[in-house]
Amino acid sequence: MKEERKTMLIVISGPSGVGKGTIFKRLLDNDKSLTFSVSVTTRKPRIGEEDGVDYFFITDAEYQDLLEKDAFLEHATVHDHSYGTLKSQIEEKMALGKNVVLDIDPQGARQVMAKWPDCVSIFLLPPSYQALHDRLYSRKTEPPDVIERRLNNARGEIDSAGLYQYNVVNDDLELACAQATAIIAAEKQRTNRYFPVVE
Ligand code: 5GP
Repeated sequence: MKEERKTMLIVISGPSGVGKGTIFKRLLDNDKSLTFSVSVTTRKPRIGEEDGVDYFFITDAEYQDLLEKDAFLEHATVHDHSYGTLKSQIEEKMALGKNVVLDIDPQGARQVMAKWPDCVSIFLLPPSYQALHDRLYSRKTEPPDVIERRLNNARGEIDSAGLYQYNVVNDDLELACAQATAIIAAEKQRTNRYFPVVE
């Protein structure tokens, strides 16, 4: 049987501390059709983060320049820093036949949903605010003032979960990964993306 699949754009959001990084890694390790779109950001790299892998770390001036060149599919200020998805990342990766995963905040997700109505959108929820608090404090990647700002922002982000097509609660990592995998698997089979030809 001959078959063709149209590539898809998968938008995943969730507050800081929900476990996005771990879920992303699992999804990408287990499904080679998926690739991650590397965003630009004006925030400084954390220990262990690599330029061009985790983000393209750029200056405010470089960010302004990209804005003027209309280089972004979406962009937003998140936790006091600028972030953006480069159109070129998506074009290049889709040209290779990959399904592109965006890890972006709800402001950016709204822009993508408007411009790319065919995208798949998933919001990752924590089981409780206390769980978010505990995860952010235990991972020790940010100072307490930054953590508190992220926890405050989490409330607003979680309020937008209903805008997404799918909600997944990360209470049990295995279950959350299985649910996200099932969503992506089902979306690949949609008739607007999947064209099997019976010979
Ligand atoms: P972090 O600084 O912890 O890596 O990310 C902070 C937040 O920015 C996360 O919610 C993440 O999803 C969001 N983010 C990362 N890249 C982008 C992007 O390109 N666009 C938007 N709108 N949000 C982003």
